[in-house]
Amino acid sequence: MKRFSLICCIQLLIFGLSAQSQTKYYLTADRVFDGENIHEGWAVIVEGDKIISVGPKEKVKEPTGATRINFSNSTLTPGLIEGHSHLLLYPYNITDWDTQVLKETDSYRTARATVHAKNTLMAGFTTARDLGTEGAGYSDVALKRAINEGIIPGPRLMVAGRAIVSTGSYGPKGYDHDQEIMLGAEPADGNDLVRVVRDQIGKGADFIKIYADYRWGINGEDQPSFTLDELKLINEVTRSSGRVMVCHAKSKEAIKRAVLAGAETIEHGDFIDVELGKLMKEHNVTYIPTVSAVDVITQYRGWKKGVDPVPANVANKKQSFKDALASGVTIGMGGDVGVYPHGENVLEMELMVEYGMKTFDALKAATSVNARAFHLENQVGFVKEGLKADLVIVSGDPSKNISDLRKVKFVMKDGVVYRNEK
Ligand SMILES: [Zn+2]
Repeated sequence: MKRFSLICCIQLLIFGLSAQSQTKYYLTADRVFDGENIHEGWAVIVEGDKIISVGPKEKVKEPTGATRINFSNSTLTPGLIEGHSHLLLYPYNITDWDTQVLKETDSYRTARATVHAKNTLMAGFTTARDLGTEGAGYSDVALKRAINEGIIPGPRLMVAGRAIVSTGSYGPKGYDHDQEIMLGAEPADGNDLVRVVRDQIGKGADFIKIYADYRWGINGEDQPSFTLDELKLINEVTRSSGRVMVCHAKSKEAIKRAVLAGAETIEHGDFIDVELGKLMKEHNVTYIPTVSAVDVITQYRGWKKGVDPVPANVANKKQSFKDALASGVTIGMGGDVGVYPHGENVLEMELMVEYGMKTFDALKAATSVNARAFHLENQVGFVKEGLKADLVIVSGDPSKNISDLRKVKFVMKDGVVYRNEK
């Protein structure tokens, strides 16, 4: 038995090594979207974990011994990039947020998250920026490690860890103050922010996520949580480690402070207007609108979309998205997925189009725009020679109909095929 398993191991090792050094793919599709433009009659060659050649079929000839991948009436795109996920959360209409945060153990939530990660990858999202575990500690750091080590399938991750809130400003809320209630993020203020930022970095945060406002205004409206100086301090400590600060900010004042303090992306931005969009553009800040979060949560609360009149918060979100478009600010793609099911990430792009973005721009948002916004443009987000072999093939033409991105036929990440539907 021992001998048998040893031989098996050696065989596997030899097979694994030869597979790694020799595996070549020759991929063709009716159209290749390279992250910025559409090309007809193109081919892509993958060797190992890299794209080694891209271009017209006449120039990019099929190498001998390559595995041929082709689907009829199809489009090949770069692996998609989800800009705002919460892999440790799942839809609130199944289990509300408070219950997930307060009653579910980190281990249970992580077990669920492994499935969420797989569903994300199978939907064609080969990279995801995860914006906080919401009470599950650094489970995202462990999830990322398990994916990188090939233990579980999932997207390439950039993770926030616990994220930071100001004292008094975050949920779960409404419990007897005699009880110590754990929060969905780590509270810190003033000079203590220096220690907490460094602690989060030390525990594996790839970037620092700040909740720059909270619905704690006198009338429950969104109001800033941190002062401009606090945000500047967070940014300074974060930047000195080579990382960036990203800010959840809905109110105008919090957006403004976050931008002036040096945030790289603004998440949600529900009350963004043309003037703020221009300020963001000036400071090279990318806007991640999460339009689907508002749309879906409002439906969970009883709004029958298409039947009932459009509620004020949805109408506001639509208008602010239009204002952002008009301002010329760079708009990336990130849906706050977790609020709705992982693997349904394309919903955000469908709603971006529904709210007024050109289909082609929505496609760019989830590829080249997100890649540049997250400093990944030399790795992913494009079908380009030398980049990682993260490739997706879908039926139809998503540059004309964004929902065609749901018709995933083939998913490759780092040159490994995860989905191949004949
Ligand atoms: Zn979020």
